[in-house]
Amino acid sequence: MATYEFQTEVNQLLQLIIHSLYSNKDIFLREIVSNASDALDKLKYLTLSDEAYKGVSFDPRIDILFDEKKKTITVRDTGLGMNDADLSENLGTIARSGTKRFLEQLKNDAKKESLLIGQFGVGFYSAFMAAEKIDVFTRKAGDSRIWRWTSKGTDSYEIDPVQEDSKDAKESGFDAEGSHGAAVIMHLNKDSQDYASRWKIEDLVKKYSDHIAFPIFLHYEQKKYDDKGKETGSENRVDQINSASALWKRPKSELKDEDYTGFYKSLSHDSDDPILYVHTHAEGAQEYTTLFYVPARAPFDLYQADYKSGVKLYVKRVFITDDDRELLPAYLRFVRGIIDSEDLPLNVSREILQQNRILETIKTQSVKKLLGEFKKLGKAADEAAAKSKKEGEDKLSEDEKKTIERWRTFVKEFNRPMKEGLYGDFLNRAEIADIVRFKSTAEEGSGDNWTTLADYVQRMQSGQKSIYYITGSDEANLRKSPLLEAYRAKNFEVLILGDEIDDIVIPAYGKYKDFELKAVNRAGSDEELGVDKKEAEKKEEAFKPVAEKIKAALGDRVKDVQLSKRLSDSPACIVVDENDPSLQMERMMKALGQPGLAEVKPILEVNGDHPLVASLRDCADEGRIADVSCVLLDQALLVEGVTLKDPADFVSRLNRLLSPA
Ligand code: ADP
Repeated sequence: MATYEFQTEVNQLLQLIIHSLYSNKDIFLREIVSNASDALDKLKYLTLSDEAYKGVSFDPRIDILFDEKKKTITVRDTGLGMNDADLSENLGTIARSGTKRFLEQLKNDAKKESLLIGQFGVGFYSAFMAAEKIDVFTRKAGDSRIWRWTSKGTDSYEIDPVQEDSKDAKESGFDAEGSHGAAVIMHLNKDSQDYASRWKIEDLVKKYSDHIAFPIFLHYEQKKYDDKGKETGSENRVDQINSASALWKRPKSELKDEDYTGFYKSLSHDSDDPILYVHTHAEGAQEYTTLFYVPARAPFDLYQADYKSGVKLYVKRVFITDDDRELLPAYLRFVRGIIDSEDLPLNVSREILQQNRILETIKTQSVKKLLGEFKKLGKAADEAAAKSKKEGEDKLSEDEKKTIERWRTFVKEFNRPMKEGLYGDFLNRAEIADIVRFKSTAEEGSGDNWTTLADYVQRMQSGQKSIYYITGSDEANLRKSPLLEAYRAKNFEVLILGDEIDDIVIPAYGKYKDFELKAVNRAGSDEELGVDKKEAEKKEEAFKPVAEKIKAALGDRVKDVQLSKRLSDSPACIVVDENDPSLQMERMMKALGQPGLAEVKPILEVNGDHPLVASLRDCADEGRIADVSCVLLDQALLVEGVTLKDPADFVSRLNRLLSPA
């Protein structure tokens, strides 16, 4: 007997599953059936593409057996099966490195656990919600050995070979020559014994696994009665209990919303309805079917480097892979669904997939289709919102209200990845720009109102040539930024960009139609504020001595000290040189552990009309000049959200300035 310890993460997960996920216990059967279906998919593919598997029989089916007395449920498949190495790799560890982060997330977020758990694909382990012990008997296709994996879901598991002609071998169902697959036997725990019932199992399979593409058979005993109702014996029966059709191949006209939603749930393991689906049958030069969904919540690994693809590739209904992140561009990684091609060869290898022209065309068309749908939804939502504003919310139909709700969800969850597309998908930029939404000073106080660039342009003042934006990490802070003062005074709208990636994405995007996008915290973005040039030069000349004093006091803490044209109330603000990375970007690089960037020195812009600044003009007291200069710089940094290097110094200077002379 060989005993092994579970990997630490598996233990943590098992703890969570057993102790806190009881609320959604039903899903365990779906998870086990879905694994059986995956194993059948894998074998089907191998028998078609790999010489080594050519001789292996493929008679795909999933059988569910239960024993009301022994309180067990068995799910058996005729799929690929596992050898001993597969067993300890697949049922003893969690391979993906995002696990730890995921577990952290779970701990902090009790309510979402049961929802996330399916998405995360901890499928098999979920059976320990209902079982106090699990046996897995399995023979890998082409192998001679049968193996038994067993565990009580605490700390360890065992893997042992099963003797050919033993009782165990017979019970496993893999005693026949050439048979292969896996049988998962769940010994139900005290609270779960009612699952060992014909009606319960049939109900769960219909609910969660109806769209599994292989037949699922339920074995049960039918009692027999005579005319007087007396039991005369029983008969063993086997019924197919799912419809086993590839839903995506059916004509759209035959499918209802519920069909699509049901399929989504079994595909994605999500228990919420999707906010959108797009089903396409393409014919002509290329024949393929795609069915895509947008979930109501961002996948937990959306921002992890090792995110999992949400799209499965099929060729003529044969599953090829669910592990190809190239099927859609990275910014659309939140999309779930399937691509089924009639033209690809069945034995496509992963390497060939990468540069396959057929797949490239499907990808291009799919992106177009998806972006078109997103845009349509956004437009419909904007129109409904406009109607609501004009005629009152009670004038909206249920459909219109739902449209608004769906679009809100889309923006909340996926606006950020869509912005990545603005940067990464050069060909579709124009289309994406119509989908991405921005917060802006024009929408101040109106809650989650967002604007498009098109609407911004509509509202532009005459004489305004650029689109202005400010970046930072906190929306509320950004709205109060002194950098906005002059823009507000001129009625120039400014976009409020609070995502980390804005500093990279927006400058790279650069231009919407004929309008350049300019950051208000960059030197040079104030040129349009309508200041009389001569006047400005005169002012600047007069200000020079003050600037020199401050510059001397601050030394190499700043790149330059300049007279600001954008401040009216605040004494100072920070801007960066046109080609320097912003402070926000600096922070992000540091957070990512990239110290490589030379420290960016800010430019201090000061408001010459502010009394604090003006007081320096006739001041000769070096101590006071130093205090005022340092406080001006530090407060401007604070407003930008920068942590001061020497807060004690700031405080003592501030206190000196505040003390009566
Ligand atoms: P996931 O299915 O998301 O990969 P699971 O924890 O459900 O995660 O399963 C882990 C792995 O165990 C699967 O990826 C598969 O390799 C293997 N496995 C589970 N059930 C079976 C089965 N019935 N036949 C063959 N392999 C299986």
